[in-house]
Amino acid sequence: MEKRKLGSTGFSISLLGLGGFHLVELPEKEALRIVNLYLDQGGNYLETAESYGSGNSEEKIGKVAKVRRNDFILATKSAQRSKEGITRALEGSLRRLNTSEVDIFFIHGLNRFEELDEISSSQGALEGVEKAKKEGKIRFVAFSNHVTPEVALNALSLYPFDILMIPLNYFDRFNFPGWEEEVLPRAREKRMGILAMKALADGFLWESEREAIRYTLSLGVDSLVMGANTEEYLRRDIEVVENFVPFTPEEMKKVREEAPELGSYVCRQCDKCLPCPLGIDIPGVFLLEGQYDRQMQDGIIRDPAQYALRDRLRFWLGNQDYAQKAYQELNPKASVCNECGECEPRCPYKIPIIYKLNLAHEKLTDTRPPGYCRIS
Ligand code: SF4
Ligand code: SF4
Repeated sequence: MEKRKLGSTGFSISLLGLGGFHLVELPEKEALRIVNLYLDQGGNYLETAESYGSGNSEEKIGKVAKVRRNDFILATKSAQRSKEGITRALEGSLRRLNTSEVDIFFIHGLNRFEELDEISSSQGALEGVEKAKKEGKIRFVAFSNHVTPEVALNALSLYPFDILMIPLNYFDRFNFPGWEEEVLPRAREKRMGILAMKALADGFLWESEREAIRYTLSLGVDSLVMGANTEEYLRRDIEVVENFVPFTPEEMKKVREEAPELGSYVCRQCDKCLPCPLGIDIPGVFLLEGQYDRQMQDGIIRDPAQYALRDRLRFWLGNQDYAQKAYQELNPKASVCNECGECEPRCPYKIPIIYKLNLAHEKLTDTRPPGYCRIS
């Protein structure tokens, strides 16, 4: 399997990394078989977290580490934000992983500005990480962020992280454009290691797996981390990665424009519908809708299975409050639209702008508890 330099760490990392989240779904024997198969096929990056099955994933990877620790780069994560908490978490991880040192230790899910303050304060997690580095318990420090490119950008200036992990796929490209447009180039400038996750957008792109993996790898990441809970999935991912040929810029553009999952509901943020005579920031509203529910819920049931999938995934990232707060600052609101119709013919993707604005406004001002199914 192709190996790439992981930023400035000196590691040579396989293009496909194995994420440990799905190992918790498997009996131990099967989980170990999957991990060993991945390593035997040339993969060399195993990543887990203390939170995956409350240590269950780490315990399984620890069994493999006991036998062949030198065959892979080992990474784990903790969502603790204090020095004391992260120190305790790391001790637990090292014990379960059967090792005295992890190669990469992540501050997990660093998604909010307040968390940047917490980890960098006196007695914050970064002090714990520094101490652990000096003690030889971790080699490189990383963070992951799932939903807020603007927070990730700030994290890059806060601390000299060696590696970052972010979601990169052609669907969330339009919900969180900052990943591709700002964070990726900034991380490259800093010569950080770049790990991609969520190439299939939490499963939403499952019918286009080859294109989705190819798209993410074409962004020039060092490795794409994917989970697998069957041999079949793992072998398929390996096969796609081993036959990887980057998309040309024209092909990338075509995927962004024509991917079937994007259809005529996902706003491509092209601004062609503007200006609105009433000053409504149409793409801005749709961007916040994307952050609210990833533009999953269009309210139309064409295919029950597809609808069920979208309904299950729409609040996956738990970002509703963040998007609603940002919408409070956006003026004028989508609700002032007088349905003049000027914008719709300008949209190359035939997005029903008036209908979608109405829906987005309802979502972004909905005060009912998250998860409430509001569209019948
Ligand atoms: S239909 Fe609504 S959003 Fe579109 S241009 Fe007219 S007022 Fe603006
Ligand atoms: S023209 Fe269509 S895709 Fe482009 S920003 Fe406007 S609504 Fe979005």
